[in-house]
Amino acid sequence: MARLIDSGPGCPTPTPLRGRSAAEARGLVYDDAVKAETDALYPLVADFVTPMEWPAIAPLVAGINRLKKAKNAVILAHNYMTPDIFSLVGDFRGDSLQLAREAAATDAAIIVQAGVHFMAETSKILAPDKTVLIPDTRAGCSLAASITGADVRLIKQKFPNYPIVTYVNCTADVKAECHITCTSSNAAQVVEHVAKEWNTDTVILVPDQYLAKNVAAQTGIRVLTWPGACEVHEQFSGEDVRQLREAHPGVIILAHPECPPDVLQEADFAGSTSAISNYVSENQPNKVVLLTECSMSDNVAAENPNVNFIRPCNLCPHMKRITLENIYDCLVTGQHEVTIPEDVRVRAKAALDAMLALPKMARPLAFKTGQVPLELGMVI
Ligand code: SF4
Repeated sequence: MARLIDSGPGCPTPTPLRGRSAAEARGLVYDDAVKAETDALYPLVADFVTPMEWPAIAPLVAGINRLKKAKNAVILAHNYMTPDIFSLVGDFRGDSLQLAREAAATDAAIIVQAGVHFMAETSKILAPDKTVLIPDTRAGCSLAASITGADVRLIKQKFPNYPIVTYVNCTADVKAECHITCTSSNAAQVVEHVAKEWNTDTVILVPDQYLAKNVAAQTGIRVLTWPGACEVHEQFSGEDVRQLREAHPGVIILAHPECPPDVLQEADFAGSTSAISNYVSENQPNKVVLLTECSMSDNVAAENPNVNFIRPCNLCPHMKRITLENIYDCLVTGQHEVTIPEDVRVRAKAALDAMLALPKMARPLAFKTGQVPLELGMVI
């Protein structure tokens, strides 16, 4: 995984290098029709794709956009997709919950999940009548892989009196065993809600130990957790934040709550990808660092041309398995359909519905920064 703690303001994450052969191997060429269809799109990625590379990318983009129309398909593009996918072929863009909501609402027959496997499962849970495709089945997640439904059944046996909240970054199997899901936008709201509903001072939040620690610091509720972590966010440290401040005086540092608590302690603002994106759009800081996955900075930068981005770079290798090529291929072949056994889907939907039934927040919750990190008990 790439890790560059300070790549400076002018060094965006490179889009995958490709020769024309990737398009040509699929019978796609950069002809006058493709040029006419795609010329207007180039400015959206001009900071990431050179004019020399464009003839290799444009035929894939045109091919995907034609196939979407022909097959009544939409592409859900997560904030961590590279800008070519995010800006050129994504129909809906955002965090995993925003995308799942779009999946449920769309009239399209086919949903292509430009994200990781648990996100495609969430789309299928909420949109069971639609065909959900994942372009590469290897697009997993270290958090989702850290826990199974069987693990949650054991936790329930051990702690029958505590509600179990699961972060949406988990498999359908895990969601099916938990009482309610949460996202990084609403985790504190969900934990406070279930503590009240169950009349308990203790809530179990799995599988992300850092999200759990950060939520516990916000709410004052006793939280037990599971030793899972996002392999991208766990690499950031409070020391990184201090070094960035020293190297870039005046910089505003925004962190995702999957980062360890000492990162949030040192950051200026913390919140979900949506909260971070809103912060930048609304405050237009002169110079920012987003402590999250690399492509997020690229995509937020494209929408905020007056903000300077210092780009610390932790790539998610799972997200980066999704490419224009495999999106094109899955639209052609209909391969890799995501399916979930109906009894699992129904129980997983109940956990998602419990969260969706909570009062809708006007905006994603920000996490307090400057809090002293807490140590939490583990359920194993
Ligand atoms: S960024 Fe982290 S949480 Fe998101 S898919 Fe990658 S490993 Fe999972």
